[in-house]
Amino acid sequence: MKLVVMKFGGTSVEDPAAIGRTAAIVAGRVANGKSPVVVVSAMAKVTDQLLRAAAAASEGDRTGALAISERLRARHRDTAVVLVKNADDCAALLETIDKKFDSLDEILRGLAAILELTPRISDLIVSYGELLSSRIVTAAFRETGMDSAWVDAREVVITDSQYQKAAPIDHLIEQRAQTKLVPLTEKKKVPVMGGFIASNEAGITTTLGRGGSDFTGALIGGAVSAEAIEIWTDVDGIMTTDPRVCPDALRVKVISFEEAAELAYFGAKVLHPATILPAVKKNIPVLVLNSRNASCEGTRITSLAPPCKSPFKSIAVKKKLSIIDVVASRMLMTHGYMREIFTIFDKHQCPVDMVSTSEVSVSLSVDSNEKLPAIAADLSKLADVKYEGKKALVCMVGDDIRGKSGMAAQVFTAIRHINVRMISQGASEINMSFMIDEEDADEAVRSLHAIFFKDPDPAIFDVDARRG
Ligand code: ASP
Ligand code: MG
Repeated sequence: MKLVVMKFGGTSVEDPAAIGRTAAIVAGRVANGKSPVVVVSAMAKVTDQLLRAAAAASEGDRTGALAISERLRARHRDTAVVLVKNADDCAALLETIDKKFDSLDEILRGLAAILELTPRISDLIVSYGELLSSRIVTAAFRETGMDSAWVDAREVVITDSQYQKAAPIDHLIEQRAQTKLVPLTEKKKVPVMGGFIASNEAGITTTLGRGGSDFTGALIGGAVSAEAIEIWTDVDGIMTTDPRVCPDALRVKVISFEEAAELAYFGAKVLHPATILPAVKKNIPVLVLNSRNASCEGTRITSLAPPCKSPFKSIAVKKKLSIIDVVASRMLMTHGYMREIFTIFDKHQCPVDMVSTSEVSVSLSVDSNEKLPAIAADLSKLADVKYEGKKALVCMVGDDIRGKSGMAAQVFTAIRHINVRMISQGASEINMSFMIDEEDADEAVRSLHAIFFKDPDPAIFDVDARRG
């Protein structure tokens, strides 16, 4: 059986028109003899709004929280009414939606009374986003004549109990997928389930972390040994760089898992880095596709990078970073010093992106955040500390820089007018990153892109777009 997992992000289910396009795309796969398993995100922005409602309720703003819920109820009802014309089906769907919102409102009222939001309750509240969108999408598919079946993702994706960022339990997911999804596809039904949401072994709702629907897609793809995992978004795929910064940017047709993961960590928001893992393990290709431009072939992410004549595949930029410089002569000839520094970052639960060291100084880069003053205060017990915001990390990724000499010289010649604060060439040997002032980032990217993508390899990049 040609199983494909098709994951649709929030913008692909944001309104009746988007859901209509999604239905047509899935129907197209069925017509081509594929057996799709569909994973959907919450409608665009719904997760944020649910979190806002939860926060408001737990701060005692009962009215505010219920008002958010009321608007969400109207949006979901309106979408259902437009999509489902059959009167009985529509009435049943509206009843489901109303029941969900009634119980959500009950939770919000409870929160406003107890004034405490735990991670567990937060997961329960956000789960409504995917529970609702998946119900609506299932009904919309049926309306177009597709034999779709709603599946409760929480019965398939089983995780540990780390609420808000639960870790999947692979063998259980595999078992559940075999008993709850595969039999449906064998009956030529199209299962539709929410992404992101899951449950622990006791059946309590958990989530995989923000943006986790891609992860669900990959987990399900791995569990059913799909022939491909399709991640449908609203961009044409992975680009050589942000087209808003550099209009000359090209679509990357093929990229390796390793390269794509590297980009994902550096803010190329096309997919969740963890998506990559379950697919890599089983050697399943992942395709990033555009639901607004379904005929575009997107980006194919494969386990091995095909040879490419250009050294880099893509340039990613992460802004809003800060650099912390820790300088101490104490570091000279001592050990355990780095550990002390990292213990402080750990204590504040602050991830570090990049580190560079010399004998007496350590520079670290982190997302700018409100914990910085406290971190600096702790670090200043060890050494002299300075921190500075408005930094950007430029990350150039390409499998073909492995073992090539002179690459750094070419990169830094291209940006010789720009002051570079930190440099790192990752151990992965496929990325070269450096830190500059945020205000220089766009210019740096344009200079680098002009040089390294002047003559792009047509096997890897969509050069037709440039020809016009
Ligand atoms: N709806 C969730 C979020 O916004 C999960 C996802 O869309 O991937 O984070
Ligand atoms: Mg997403």
